[in-house]
Amino acid sequence: MRDELILLKYGEIALKGLNRRGFEAILLANLRHRLRRVGHFSVSAAQSTATVRLLAPAEAPTLGGPATLDRAFDECLRVFGFTAATRAFCCPKDFSAICETAADCLREPLSAASTFKVETRRADKRFPMTSPELSSALGGYLLERYPHLRVDLHRPDLELRVEIREEAAYVHGGARPAAGGLPVSSSGRGTLLLSGGIDSPVAGYLMARRGLRIDAVHFQSAPYTSARALAKVEELARLLSRWAGDVDFYVVPFTQVQEALRDRCAAEHFTILTRRFMMRIAERLAAQAGSGALITGESLGQVASQTLDGLTVTNAALERLPALRPCIGMDKEDIVAIARRIGTFEKSIEPYEDCCALFAPKHPKTKPRVEQVEAQELGLDVEALVSDAVARTELRLIRYGRDD
Ligand code: ATP
Ligand code: MG
Repeated sequence: MRDELILLKYGEIALKGLNRRGFEAILLANLRHRLRRVGHFSVSAAQSTATVRLLAPAEAPTLGGPATLDRAFDECLRVFGFTAATRAFCCPKDFSAICETAADCLREPLSAASTFKVETRRADKRFPMTSPELSSALGGYLLERYPHLRVDLHRPDLELRVEIREEAAYVHGGARPAAGGLPVSSSGRGTLLLSGGIDSPVAGYLMARRGLRIDAVHFQSAPYTSARALAKVEELARLLSRWAGDVDFYVVPFTQVQEALRDRCAAEHFTILTRRFMMRIAERLAAQAGSGALITGESLGQVASQTLDGLTVTNAALERLPALRPCIGMDKEDIVAIARRIGTFEKSIEPYEDCCALFAPKHPKTKPRVEQVEAQELGLDVEALVSDAVARTELRLIRYGRDD
């Protein structure tokens, strides 16, 4: 018995006390769902660690090619709720088996390193050697097998780890940081206003990482905005689903609202009025879907509608739900760095038109006041515009791994 597997350490959910079981169930369900696209794996959990093993060989019919532990590992790194991920080798809890497994299975990193050290953790205290005893004995064995190596306890090239757990011993060459955060859905559901830009996919990622399942709402102004612009946003939702799992994608026909604003309101208020309608419509859709918050990619001071006054007037259109703005305190560079890391940046910078730019005034008001903006809305049938847009909204289900 010497199989290779993946070990995933829980993050904060280990601290959640009484809710722990619920969190753990969601975390493992998310992990299983994510792995289903790459093959057949078993998932088990003990001592704040999930273990993933390959079940069926690569021939099993799966999406996008043969199942391998490589691909599973890649998926695991995008599941929120785990802080560290390790490719490990498993063997019987027996000193010579541990020595041989380490020497054989970690041949590559052992050959590449000049210095190493062994670190042992013994969860099973019945194991006859103490952790320091096992570390130094295994270190001695490896020095014989790999004579080029030296021990360096302070700054080794390779830190070889042994974990003696209840069920078996595990040997690996160190963990990688995983996605962190809380399991998607463990905090409820949030409705993301998703544009084609850089910020809103990042906002969705950040809130999914805090445990929200994401519904994405996009406002589209055909024929002023093209089918390709919409396809780009749908693709962004799909890229987000690599992290957030399943995403319900709502496409709101927004042309009538924008034409009404253009025809009946003062141009300088156009942008802020547009934002208030987006919020109202998104709040209705959120209520229908059982979502508890709106999410936007706004960042303080980035554009005229994102000043404190702008945000105040935007928020005033909301009846009940909080608007979460995880990018609010970030510089554009910070947001771009996250967008690059999560793989949305390249898609975001494709040059397609957004409905926000339509009819946008040259000089939007940077200090809008609620009374002024509300006065503009007196000439509109707000309720009819909102409920009509909601009624004509189209829902597209993005099921991670099933339609790519
Ligand atoms: P982004 O880079 O995400 O487009 P931005 O800096 O361009 O943001 P705005 O265009 O002012 O900012 O939009 C602010 C926020 O409003 C966006 O982050 C997004 O949450 C939402 N939003 C803007 N346009 C749309 C749209 N067409 N559909 C859905 N949400 C939108
Ligand atoms: Mg935008």
